[in-house]
Amino acid sequence: MGRSSSTSNGASGEGPRVFAEEPEAPEERALERRLRPATLDEFFGQEAVVENLRMAIRAAAQRGEPLDHLLLSGLPGLGKTTLAHLVAESGGVALHEAAAPTLQRAADLAGLLTRLEAGDVLFIDEIHRLAPAVEEYLYAAMEDFVIDILIDQGPSARSVRIDLPRFTLVGATTREGLLSAPLRGRFGIHERLEPYEADVLARILCRSAEILGVGIEDDAATYLAGRSRGTPRVANRFLRRVRDLAQLEAGNHISEEIACEGLRRIGVDEHGLTRVDRLILRTIHRADGRPLGLKTIAAAVGEDERTLEDVYEPHLLREGLLVKTRQGRQLTNSAWDLLGSESPSSTEPPQGRLPL
Ligand code: ADP
Repeated sequence: MGRSSSTSNGASGEGPRVFAEEPEAPEERALERRLRPATLDEFFGQEAVVENLRMAIRAAAQRGEPLDHLLLSGLPGLGKTTLAHLVAESGGVALHEAAAPTLQRAADLAGLLTRLEAGDVLFIDEIHRLAPAVEEYLYAAMEDFVIDILIDQGPSARSVRIDLPRFTLVGATTREGLLSAPLRGRFGIHERLEPYEADVLARILCRSAEILGVGIEDDAATYLAGRSRGTPRVANRFLRRVRDLAQLEAGNHISEEIACEGLRRIGVDEHGLTRVDRLILRTIHRADGRPLGLKTIAAAVGEDERTLEDVYEPHLLREGLLVKTRQGRQLTNSAWDLLGSESPSSTEPPQGRLPL
């Protein structure tokens, strides 16, 4: 095995503090790392993506080359960072990680690039948020494995070209659409992670429970999986909260009843909706059928727009509770039913006063 290790430049410290994003507290982050699959065999689901990656890794190794640059897209918590680690692990090389917003100047990126050794993986999270100057600087590094570094200042300032070892850039994004065409075009492999089916999440939960040393019944795993928004990070987060209850009140054993009670205590209802989800629905509900803009909803629920779009809306859209129209966000009939109100006719939304 090679020099598999990882260095970090704040990749996990960024991002809004919501349950489906990177956890803020260091102990939560440490627990999440403990639950992270250590090999591709332990990475459940996403079969097509894993299969493509295995093949690309094998073929590159046979040619004696590093893997092509890889772009991973998908909602937060679906396993992009985990896959970047596993790509490095498979090649026995080091992983260096940075969150795009921490790379404010080309010099920040140069500092990272000059530390790379042949074959290393450079993981840039939220790559759609790279500053334009940093992004342009990355182009030559990705394509020709060179960078220009400015030395000295004033009249004696000059730029020196430095050769880099061949490396693999793994870029992760929750918003592939925001990537510029030149940047997207420089990735040889594009893979998109989709939300997980409940049965795969149940397997992930059983593996995590074993690592955490808590018993879990199949029904309980199924119950938690069904409310985890198709997202392993959310499933694991729920498991850790429910484990506390099981440990204190149920002999360290999670039954469906304990799972249900544990989720109730953290404000997740029987439909898998959190307090913020319900707040979003109620905010739109109060508009009496009129579409509401993202800004208005964000202000009303106290979350930023990016978090609403990346974390909350995808779940509400998938559950068929919300629709996005050109005019704004509207509730579906199912959401009106859920909130216990008469559903307005789809062609003629009621014309109430906007209470916001
Ligand atoms: P992202 O980078 O997409 O936000 P992460 O890779 O950080 O997501 O994954 C969040 C957590 O979910 C990880 O710590 C890992 O424990 C778990 N996880 C993600 N995908 C899988 C998977 N396919 N199998 C098992 N666990 C997973």
